[in-house]
Amino acid sequence: MRVDLFHTYKVQFYRSNAHIPNKEALLFEIVFLGTSASAPSVHRGLSSQVVIHDEFRFLIDCGEGTQRQILQSGLGFKRLNRVLITHGHLDHILGLAGLLSTFMRWETIDKLEIYGGQWALDRISDLIYSIVLRGAKPPMDLQLLQIKAGIIFDEDDFTVTAFPVWHRGPDCFGYLFEEKTRRPFLPEKADELSIPPGPWRRDLVNGKSITLPDGRVIHPDQVLGEERPGSRLAHVGDVGRTDELLQAVRDVDTLIIEATYMQEETEMAEKFAHLTARQAAELAVTAGVKYLILTHISRRYRERDVLAEAQAVFPHTIVARDFDAFQVRRGECMKVEQIKEAANAK
Ligand SMILES: [Zn+2]
Ligand SMILES: [Zn+2]
Repeated sequence: MRVDLFHTYKVQFYRSNAHIPNKEALLFEIVFLGTSASAPSVHRGLSSQVVIHDEFRFLIDCGEGTQRQILQSGLGFKRLNRVLITHGHLDHILGLAGLLSTFMRWETIDKLEIYGGQWALDRISDLIYSIVLRGAKPPMDLQLLQIKAGIIFDEDDFTVTAFPVWHRGPDCFGYLFEEKTRRPFLPEKADELSIPPGPWRRDLVNGKSITLPDGRVIHPDQVLGEERPGSRLAHVGDVGRTDELLQAVRDVDTLIIEATYMQEETEMAEKFAHLTARQAAELAVTAGVKYLILTHISRRYRERDVLAEAQAVFPHTIVARDFDAFQVRRGECMKVEQIKEAANAK
């Protein structure tokens, strides 16, 4: 029942969001497509999630079975042409083969960019060119793009920054999504000044002074509010150490990070370069993050035990399930179902 209700709502949610003017959409959304560690379980698919900001969509990792999860989530393949890879382990990349195979029969996108460290891209290149394509032409403009730590996307109102992550194998990355600081447009001030809607208001929003037909000169300061810092969302895939992450994830509104083990198996966690739920929660405390979402959950544990271990250290913790969706705003992380409840209550 939960899935049915959620699915129905989610479709509405994405539709309604399309109507929000770009400048007003001060948020990132994250949809979890797969939340299992290493192998899928009955309830969890392999690692994959989508981060959405305005018309931008970033698929982070693409474990086996991701294309079916995309269909089930109601997201669809449209505009899903940027893939950010955390690292080259098979539980994070095998789904790219299936996705490409589908695109070869049924073209839905004209460009696919896959970003990652060199080690991950080498393996992805083998998978795509040796196994899937075998000499055939890619069904779209396909690019494997090597990244280094630093800003990898700098758009009008947000940036995506890659930062190094310590796991088994070189070149593993986490991703930080940050909205740029901006000054909101105050329509009531514009009305008071009798500024007609249209290009004049747009110029003011963009920081340009305007001259109205009646000769009055209006400066942006007259219609813009106080500077508002944007929201910040950090995603860390598999990782075995938290000390090097501190700077990258400090004070973020939401941190998504793996919790493959529990404290009773710390040695295993160390051996395979993963975190325990408790270590993830301790990072959240030390880094001063607002909300913590745990993923990459092992089927050896019960979800509620993982949650309890983390919440004992950091109460604002959620364990993600497949198809969970969240909105991340400044100081806030809201599950989409809660928004649904709020809408129903009106
Ligand atoms: Zn993994
Ligand atoms: Zn891994």
